[in-house]
Amino acid sequence: MALSQQQLKNLAAEFGTPLYVYDAEHITAQYKKLTDAFAQTDTKFFYACKALTNINILKHINSIGCNVDCSSVNEVKLAFLAGFEPKRILYTSNGIHFSEIEEAQNLGVHINIDSLSNLEKFGQKFGHSYPVGLRLRPNIMGGGNLKVSTGHDQSKFGIPVDQLDQILDVVSKYNLHIQNLHIHTGSDIKDVDVFVKGIEVLFDIIPSFKKLESIDLGGGFKVPYQDGDGETDMPLLAKKVNEAFSNHPNPNGKHLQVWFEPGKFLVSGAGYLLTEVNVIKENPNTTFVGINSGLNHLIRPMFYDAYHKIENISNPTGEEKSYAVTGYICETDTFAWDRKLNEVKEGDLLVFYNAGAYGFEMSSNFNSRQKPAEVLVKDDKVQLIRRRDEFEDLLKNQIID
Ligand SMILES: *Cc1c(COP(=O)(O)O)cnc(C)c1O
Repeated sequence: MALSQQQLKNLAAEFGTPLYVYDAEHITAQYKKLTDAFAQTDTKFFYACKALTNINILKHINSIGCNVDCSSVNEVKLAFLAGFEPKRILYTSNGIHFSEIEEAQNLGVHINIDSLSNLEKFGQKFGHSYPVGLRLRPNIMGGGNLKVSTGHDQSKFGIPVDQLDQILDVVSKYNLHIQNLHIHTGSDIKDVDVFVKGIEVLFDIIPSFKKLESIDLGGGFKVPYQDGDGETDMPLLAKKVNEAFSNHPNPNGKHLQVWFEPGKFLVSGAGYLLTEVNVIKENPNTTFVGINSGLNHLIRPMFYDAYHKIENISNPTGEEKSYAVTGYICETDTFAWDRKLNEVKEGDLLVFYNAGAYGFEMSSNFNSRQKPAEVLVKDDKVQLIRRRDEFEDLLKNQIID
């Protein structure tokens, strides 16, 4: 299912490095895991597209029948460009100006509101006329580490569930039609019980919302990063979610649809970052491998200590040695410390795995370096989906006398 080392080498030769490569088939297969596991239930999936927004990826997501979740109104506009209907677009806001919610309303998409202040403004402006969702903070800890945990009681995300009385005041004042209740507890959640806990929290407050149609459990499913790592067990999650629902029939007697917003789960493993070794520096304790990339292209290891598996595809059977893999940016951008790789020489190709989610998407032009090209492999065809930045791109928008 994965792209072979030979395929990756050919792509590096054809398009140069650094290069992001995505495998459409992997995305399709991940989506199928979700829909297979939840086949017996009324469940919808919205791809959290902030993970990777290239329009060709969005089109692929659309073509396999998956819906889309957006974090900004610009992502909503990208989703329209990719052909999504408004009803298949969800906009989950966070700390934004009310004008952006007005824009999303005008575009006719589903909206989750994440502050009392914006809920009040929404009520004033739209009252009962536009069904809307609430982004709640369930006050539970979930996810791989604190930096990627979003549902705990110190998190900025959502309206704290303990402010239910205030929420209900606003809802009744404007007769708001609350259609969806959303929670998102974090990323890298392997323990399915975190989702069950979320359901428990929601079921305490569901009776207060008579017109509810769905509950939205967010994203954050775990994917494997290194050998021996597991993935969120989808059949088990589906079973637990079903159990939770049969233990708590909706007191309002209405059927509730369940929504999820997977980002990483769909695209992480579909992506590869291909890089080339610029320099090797021998030190008494460490050998540094300096590559033609850095935190400007893949910031996850430096930003929240993410682990990315790296392989030397130029020398796959060479003797294993220990290296520090570092970037070419004038900051300490260490991708991996004390990492075993097959013996590395200058000019070798190193591939980073799990580069599909939050890879290119978080890239920048820091140090006035260009962003990489992106390539999509689909139906055995290779398609350039973003050209490499050129020098002129660095001057775009600068005003030069
Ligand atoms: C980022 C995000 C997601 C997706 O998280 P992943 O860890 O990539 O699955 C889902 N929902 C919301 C609201 C998000 O902000």
